[in-house]
Amino acid sequence: MIAEKTGRSAEILSGKKFAKAIKEEVAREVSKLKEDHGISPCLVVVRVGADSASEVYVKSKVKTAEELGIISEHRHLPEDISQEDLLSIVGELNARDEVDGILVQLPLPKGIDEKLVLEKIDPSKDVDGFHPINVGRLSQGQEALTPCTPAGILDMLKRKGIDILGQNAVVVGRSNIVGKPMAMLLLQEHATVTICHSRTKDLAAVCREADILVAAVGVSGIITADHIKEGATVIDVGMNRLEDVEEAKGFFGEDELEKRLSTIEKRGSTLVGDVNARAAKEKAGFFTPVPGGVGLLTVAMLMKNTIKAAKMRRLGNVSE
Ligand code: NDP
Repeated sequence: MIAEKTGRSAEILSGKKFAKAIKEEVAREVSKLKEDHGISPCLVVVRVGADSASEVYVKSKVKTAEELGIISEHRHLPEDISQEDLLSIVGELNARDEVDGILVQLPLPKGIDEKLVLEKIDPSKDVDGFHPINVGRLSQGQEALTPCTPAGILDMLKRKGIDILGQNAVVVGRSNIVGKPMAMLLLQEHATVTICHSRTKDLAAVCREADILVAAVGVSGIITADHIKEGATVIDVGMNRLEDVEEAKGFFGEDELEKRLSTIEKRGSTLVGDVNARAAKEKAGFFTPVPGGVGLLTVAMLMKNTIKAAKMRRLGNVSE
């Protein structure tokens, strides 16, 4: 589906709606795995230290797992745990046969080598999809556990019936967590993919070629009307805090400005993406808002990855 531009504003892709659909499917699959194979999928989330954002994310992951019938375990470890002890805990989880998914919440405290910890996770239990084995499998087009945010975006594009094959896709950002895997997933779906980053020359000109534009930068409003082709699908991954009232006035249309200004007044800031919301609503065909867009898909995809990991490891396939 390619959006026809008719002077109306972009269709908003609600992360809540797509996340709900994914979660309903996962809940059905959990029941089926239990009934048909006696398997109770199990996810263990490891959190180290007292990072407050991590605490919120972990709680939401554990709660969602429980809602869907996935057994979940939250291992909260002290800030001063040694790297050796953390590695040995991951090793124990790898060895526990009933554990299907292991997630180590990032960031880890200073002094712990994240790379080493992530590589210690058994690739068949790596529900975040960050292990080099899974990254390699994804890049070779093999069945793999893929990072949740880009996997969620792809799932949403497909559910919505948005054309990918042969389309120009531009991904702004080249992180291992979002940008690179997003580009690989779109490539696998036969898009013509361009990856942009901080050294890209004339970002706006490259972005204007995009039928599908994914912004994963972490800079509020870096994508403006000048970057968006009429009717494009614009996916905003960024999560930034906007505090400046004057900036907010240029960021939002009349439909939401008042609410946002009141949030800034009450809380000192409002959550925004990388895309200027007013510009996207005026020019794009489809647009994911922040908040309420991509963020909600990530946790839902983590649950889907847990089921996928359970099926791949215990049944040897994902189609059961
Ligand atoms: P990183 O900081 O790891 O990567 C940012 C990327 O943006 C880098 O590749 C960087 O380029 C590029 N970049 C920076 N400045 C520019 C610029 N001026 N022009 C073009 N490219 C630029 O971030 P993440 O990928 O981890 O996250 C990106 C955003 O997405 C963040 O706001 C994060 O909070 C959010 N996020 C949201 C999630 C969700 O569930 N909704 C999940 C994960 C992230 P270079 O490589 O050259 O430095």
